[in-house]
Amino acid sequence: MRLFHVKHYDVVVIGGGHAGTEAAAASARMGAKTALVTLSQAGIGVMSCNPAIGGLGKGHLVREIDALDGVMAQAADRAGIQFRLLNRKKGPAVQGPRAQIDRKLYRQAIQAALSAQQNLDIVVGEAIDFLRINGRVAGVTLEGGAEIRCHAVVLTAGTFLNGLIHIGDSRKPGGRTGDAPSLRLAARLAELDLGRGRLKTGTPPRLNGTTIDWARVEMQPGDSDPTLFSFLSAGTLVRQVSCGITHTNPLTHEIVRNNLNKSAMYGGHIEGVGPRYCPSIEDKIVRFSEKSEHQVFLEPEGLDDTTVYPNGISTSLPAEVQIAYVRTIRGLENVGILQPGYAIEYDFFDPRGLSPAMEVRAAPGLYFAGQINGTTGYEEAAAQGLAAGLNAAAAALGKEPVHFSRTSSYIGVMLDDLTSRGVTEPYRMFTSRAEFRLSMRADNADQRLTPLGIAAGCVGERRRVAFDQKASALASAREALDSVMLTPHQIMAAGLKQSQDGVRRSAFQLLAFPDVDIAAVEAFCPAFAAFGGDIKDQTAKDALYAQYLGRQSADVAALQRDEGIRIPADIDYCAIAGLSTELRQKLSRHRPADIAKAGKIEGMTPTAVSLVLAFLRRADRRSAAK
Ligand code: FAD
Repeated sequence: MRLFHVKHYDVVVIGGGHAGTEAAAASARMGAKTALVTLSQAGIGVMSCNPAIGGLGKGHLVREIDALDGVMAQAADRAGIQFRLLNRKKGPAVQGPRAQIDRKLYRQAIQAALSAQQNLDIVVGEAIDFLRINGRVAGVTLEGGAEIRCHAVVLTAGTFLNGLIHIGDSRKPGGRTGDAPSLRLAARLAELDLGRGRLKTGTPPRLNGTTIDWARVEMQPGDSDPTLFSFLSAGTLVRQVSCGITHTNPLTHEIVRNNLNKSAMYGGHIEGVGPRYCPSIEDKIVRFSEKSEHQVFLEPEGLDDTTVYPNGISTSLPAEVQIAYVRTIRGLENVGILQPGYAIEYDFFDPRGLSPAMEVRAAPGLYFAGQINGTTGYEEAAAQGLAAGLNAAAAALGKEPVHFSRTSSYIGVMLDDLTSRGVTEPYRMFTSRAEFRLSMRADNADQRLTPLGIAAGCVGERRRVAFDQKASALASAREALDSVMLTPHQIMAAGLKQSQDGVRRSAFQLLAFPDVDIAAVEAFCPAFAAFGGDIKDQTAKDALYAQYLGRQSADVAALQRDEGIRIPADIDYCAIAGLSTELRQKLSRHRPADIAKAGKIEGMTPTAVSLVLAFLRRADRRSAAK
């Protein structure tokens, strides 16, 4: 790994977590001279919590990162020890690839990817301040006094800013277990008046796998036909393993309930809001008191590591209570705890203070990505890191910003949600957040985003060539199917169900019928049979959703039109006649970047939106007349 040999860069990224590594790699792929400043080299690519990547909504993000040539998907494929496609029985739009990850292999894969990345230097150190020149953030100061100058800084400090670790009623400063918090940078940020808040998250105790009675738990293997993350991966690379499944029971719940007052979360020691969708065992027992058991997945942390991550029982109870309740669980009667669970509280900043390019509006030149924006999860962090890294590099190189629309990517949905609506609790991705999810599937992330990445300049030659070949094969397969037109009689004669409505259908349309498989369509269209299995499968998925896309297209066009109407950052909302004082204040505070975002501000009415639109049109006419 290269270490710090220049003191002037285009882009400096602070933090070597999931947001930081993706931001640094993206910036360097764009051709920007990039430095990644992080507290420890060994900590690059560390997974702070669960040893898994992907899942519902999250798997879509990983595929999108891959479509833009990011590092997370290929690293996860290298380190994956169990792959499962979630929601397999439902339609492809809501299926989510997920993998159990060997922590050490993942770290190694990320570190190797960064090491091989041109234009990227790794700097080990603590960033403690920002350099500001002419009102712009133009560099960072490291502990010890060294300064690095640059055009743009991407800050991805995760849970480290004023991080406070809680176990029972004991608390100590920490960024995560074993790491010091980032206090000085947090103090500098507090001076910027960016809308700071506190959030919390928790992690379960880590178990010694050799002390688990595996015969008493159910074992769940991965899929026999693993679905990998990267469009470039051919198959799994390491031994695959099973996970255990066990359950809490009334005795577990009784112990937790009797000790709630000792929990950091319930004893009133934590002010931050926690992730609703990743509740602690204390939360579960209070919120779902009618339930007599909760599922616990026993997830191996690595192939040569006996540590087991019990997914589902994160906690901030005292260590002695943790051991007592864990040992009530079937299979864990004699378990040894290697590291107690804990909760962590940290600073985040209101993401409504960011531009759509992730730049802090009050501090030009500074970009935020990851947990610092109020999100939770590796995938959410990595996707933001990618977007911030691309945009910081674009700004440094004098290129156009890279825009992600919510009509075509989960990245766009997340950035829009964060910058328009802000967060009241840790934000995580779900497929339900995407109104156009039928067209934004994990399987077609490359079709949706690789062209954008090629145009932006962040996609390497290997992926470009693979993508072009696939795109041309998909187009030819579609052409072959479209050229075969079938009457209802022909379809019925082949033994397929079809009403006699007199309408001729193409072989592509036939492929969308629920009871028609690829082999049946090949009988009508021998040219289709000549394509590879992946092309045929992809075409079948495209056919399945084609009719819905037609129905969605008017809504997509309307949203794209509104996203395209930009609102100048210096617009004077007080000068817009007819707007209420309350809306003038809200618009002035949030400064939406476009009409779509303005429409989402709480209290905005269609009339208010049209007043802003009319004002923009008048301003356009005036400037055209000059
Ligand atoms: P991180 O991965 O935290 O990386 C931050 C990086 O910044 C680190 O490399 C650090 O060394 C570096 N850094 C910080 N300050 C400085 C500085 N001043 N100078 C230089 N480098 C600096 N996610 C879930 O989805 N579900 C969960 O249940 C869950 N539980 C969690 C429990 C715990 C205890 C923790 C700590 C995290 C948990 N997470 C959970 C969150 C998950 O780990 C994060 O969402 C993800 O790691 C965020 O990525 P990031 O890149 O923003 O930050």
